[in-house]
Amino acid sequence: MARTNVTAPVPKSDPLRFDALVVGAGFSGLYQLLCLRDRLGLSVKVLEAGAGVGGTWYWNRYPGARCDSESHSYCYSFSEELWREWEWSEKYPGPPEIMRYLNHVADKFDLKRDIRFNTKVESAHYDEKENVWRVATHTGDTYTTQFLITAVGCLSTANVPDIPGLETFQGKWYHTGHWPHEGVDFRGKRVGQVGTGSTGIQAAPVIAETAKHLTVFQRTANYSVPARNGPLTAEFKQWIKDNAEEIRNTMHAAVNGHPFLLSETLALSVSPDEREAIYEKAWETGGLRFRGAFRDLVTSNEANATAVAFLKRKIREIVKDPATAEKLANIDHPYAAKRPPIDTDYFETFNRDNVDLVDIRADPIERITPAGIRTKSGADYPLDILVFATGFDGMTGSLLKMDIRGRDDLALKEAWAAGPRNYIGLQVAGFPNMFMVTGPGSPSVLCNMPVAIEQHVEWITDCIAHLRSEGLTRIEPKEEAVESWIAQVNAAANATVLPQAKHSWYLGANIPGKPRVFMPYAGGMAHYRKICADVAARNYEGFTLT
Ligand code: NAP
Repeated sequence: MARTNVTAPVPKSDPLRFDALVVGAGFSGLYQLLCLRDRLGLSVKVLEAGAGVGGTWYWNRYPGARCDSESHSYCYSFSEELWREWEWSEKYPGPPEIMRYLNHVADKFDLKRDIRFNTKVESAHYDEKENVWRVATHTGDTYTTQFLITAVGCLSTANVPDIPGLETFQGKWYHTGHWPHEGVDFRGKRVGQVGTGSTGIQAAPVIAETAKHLTVFQRTANYSVPARNGPLTAEFKQWIKDNAEEIRNTMHAAVNGHPFLLSETLALSVSPDEREAIYEKAWETGGLRFRGAFRDLVTSNEANATAVAFLKRKIREIVKDPATAEKLANIDHPYAAKRPPIDTDYFETFNRDNVDLVDIRADPIERITPAGIRTKSGADYPLDILVFATGFDGMTGSLLKMDIRGRDDLALKEAWAAGPRNYIGLQVAGFPNMFMVTGPGSPSVLCNMPVAIEQHVEWITDCIAHLRSEGLTRIEPKEEAVESWIAQVNAAANATVLPQAKHSWYLGANIPGKPRVFMPYAGGMAHYRKICADVAARNYEGFTLT
């Protein structure tokens, strides 16, 4: 990657004028700032809505929140020194430890001085005549920049369902994605939790520990595999330090950027007994490694069905009340077609006396009353606290919330009216010099995020270095390259079972009115990395450079 100073920073006569503006100070924004400022010598400002660094981890501090990538892979790998000096305490760290890590990175590389916190970007308009972006914030400032990089995360815009009567609720309600930093005291309270995705599955066991009573309102039943979290041993911590390169190479070779490869074995190539033994072992290992038990789990419905049968049987074995077990095991989609959650005692939680499950597919929520939730059948569930673990307007929500306008005042909202359209997930036609980090059309959420982020940030940095060293000022994709990429994104998705989950946020199906398009690139991170490298090597094929 390019590390030389390509040009001197622009004169600082206008304090709001920068070479590059980055939106968001999570994993992506921090590394993008470091690359552009310290490796290319650009003037850079990061605008961040939160009061600190951390992105998704700044906001998602709900009970039970944990990373589902193994800690030694959920970090940056660009700096050997950083890799060696940081020690994770657990296999799956929670927000406090991840926040400590990101603050450590920000302090080590002196990043905070170029981040403006508590600043929401409201609009970004491209001025073709001057070839700059004008970026307005809620504080009334307007920044000017040549390059605009959105590092807004894939899951940052909370989805609070529009259920009638919420405003009449006399208790307190929270969305997990905007959890109060001071925490919530559930002691002595009757709590209702709506949502059983990765978040709800992590939250319910922890809420149940202190709440007087917890009612989980389940619309779509979900698979989950035990995380098997625990402290890292001294030997493992040393192994991480000593094997940085090998771990990195594995993450780069892996389909999903994790520090392990999928098995080479096909699920139906072994006898039922052998398959069962492999699943048992994977269940004991736990976490997302279960997904790697067989190579074809997400590419063959027949293979997937064997995992489905195993996982549903586990639910029925764990949950003692047969009626509750049936509701939990009544799962309508292939395993891993929705992001596969991992848990600590999720199904076991339903064996507690203070926890009930309500199937709101069978008996939907009719309204929220001052006292709690009422379902269509007329059943009332009195509640003191309501927790919405109802997910996000994923991948596009945070981008479309800003009024982004490209050439000829074209709004991104309009350009994406039928779903996100871009080239290799990085740039949108008609929006020159705007780059997205882990946007739709890239592996992003199907990948261990830091691995996807480092690849994007480094590609963008190299691209900007190339433009500047060649005396070029503008890059944007050609419409035919966008068309061709969309066809590849669709083909990659259709080669898997992923689009078969009707209620998946991967498809935008969780947000009323959102176009139903499979958004992430499912062709694998390793393959995608090669595509991006080839595009750059062929003089940015598919882009117009001027
Ligand atoms: P999610 O997967 O979208 O799940 C939202 C849940 O809320 C679903 O059960 C959904 O039911 C339900 N829901 C949504 N709107 C509803 C409504 N109007 N009425 C009733 N139920 C409703 O969201 P999430 O659990 O927050 O997870 C989102 C993503 O964040 C994950 O897929 C993962 O990528 C990431 N995440 C990662 C971790 C981790 O690293 N460990 C933890 C949490 C989240 P339907 O399925 O029927 O729509």
